[in-house]
Amino acid sequence: MANTLQRQPGKLITENFIFEGAVGSLHEPQHPGRDVLSSQDLQLHISQLLQTSLELEKILHLFHSEVQQHLAVDSLGYRNEDNCIVLDYGSSRQHSCHYSLQINSSRLGDLILTRSKPFNGHELTFIEALISSLVCPIRNALLYKEAVSAALKDSLTQIGNRAALETALEREVSLAKRHQHPFSLLVLDIDFFKQINDKYGHSAGDVVIAGLARTLSECCRETDTCYRYGGEEFVLLLNQTNSNGCLQIAERIRSSVAETIFAHEELTMKITVSIGAATLQSQDKTFELFNRADKAMYKAKRQGRNIVVSTES
Ligand code: GH3
Ligand code: MG
Ligand code: MG
Repeated sequence: MANTLQRQPGKLITENFIFEGAVGSLHEPQHPGRDVLSSQDLQLHISQLLQTSLELEKILHLFHSEVQQHLAVDSLGYRNEDNCIVLDYGSSRQHSCHYSLQINSSRLGDLILTRSKPFNGHELTFIEALISSLVCPIRNALLYKEAVSAALKDSLTQIGNRAALETALEREVSLAKRHQHPFSLLVLDIDFFKQINDKYGHSAGDVVIAGLARTLSECCRETDTCYRYGGEEFVLLLNQTNSNGCLQIAERIRSSVAETIFAHEELTMKITVSIGAATLQSQDKTFELFNRADKAMYKAKRQGRNIVVSTES
């Protein structure tokens, strides 16, 4: 890339960088009539603005807009490999500057600004000062993201919990209805699980529950999602799946579980599951779909366990 001031792999920026000197706008030509702020006032203004949200996407959007008020910058990119986050604002251009963000030696990701002409040294110093105001808000937003995701995760199995299921189910049902896609749901319950606890103890029971969650996730397609509804009960949401497809997936899950050996210390354990299946009908409310699958699961229990029962059968 010709004549670029790209800083690879990313100059390190922490929260303590202070820009010396007055800044108005570094746009060329200068915007007539724009008030010239002291650099510290500007940093303070940006810090206050960025504190108005805990959403990472909103913070970066605000920051990009604010930078553009003072400097000709086309795009802003944020990358955080540890958290699998890739965010882009504006259209990327030829010249770029790249910064790695850090606070108290913990890495917060990388920021890339681009535009069609090179950045000069003064502009880079200015950008670095603005980015230093972004460090704490990004740290807070990442912590917030982590807390939200922990609140939706079941700690034993690391899959979504009941709260996550409720949100996802509402969303998927409304998307399936809007796009007229088929959608199915499975309710799954471990058979005679109390006997596992009674015979081998609760730690062994926990190993089985966590292992079952892994088996279910392995049986799922990428578009399917699996949740722990409670105790030894799980729910699977099957996107783009009609009643035939749903029965095939449910049967595959049932037989995979029956063949899986769960190991804990010197113990090996086998379990079976009963599965209730239901497919979304056009008039269905979310709870009606769930209740049909739940009833089908109890019917599977009554019919002897280790089987799949569909409300359509
Ligand atoms: P059924 O075939 O009718 O479903 O029989 P079951 O024994 O599986 O059903 P029951 O409802 O009688 O027992 C479920 C058991 O699951 C009781 C409860 O102690 C156990 N359980 C629920 N959550 C956990 C957990 O997180 N860990 C362990 N180890 N056991 C759990
Ligand atoms: Mg149960
Ligand atoms: Mg059970």
